Amino acid sequence: MKRCTARKDRIMAKYRKKPVIIEASRWWADGDHPRVEMPKATVKDAVKVCKKCDHLLMDHGMCETLEGYHIVCPGDWIITGIADEVYPCKPGIFEKTYEAV
Ligand SMILES: [Zn+2]
Repeated sequence: MKRCTARKDRIMAKYRKKPVIIEASRWWADGDHPRVEMPKATVKDAVKVCKKCDHLLMDHGMCETLEGYHIVCPGDWIITGIADEVYPCKPGIFEKTYEAV
C-alpha cells in the first residue's frame, strides 16, 4: 500500500492545458453517437423534465465515462479524449474551451 505523504505539490500555481486534439460531435438523439445509449427509464421518470436543459428525461442519453455513467442532454457535445475516453460537455463550456482545427 502507498501512502500520500508528499507535500511538495501543495503550492497552488497556474497551469494551461496543452493543445491536444480531441474528437467531438453533438448528440441530439438515439443513434447520434456509438457510445451514447438510451437509459432504461421507468415511465414515471421518463416524463420528468431535466433541470439543466428543460427537455424530457426520456429524450436524454447516457454515456460511460471514466467516472461512471453520465447523463447526456440533447445538444451536448460528446468528446473523445486522448485515452479514447468519452464524456459529455455542455455547449457553453465547449465553445469556451475548444475551437475547430
Ligand atoms: Zn438535460
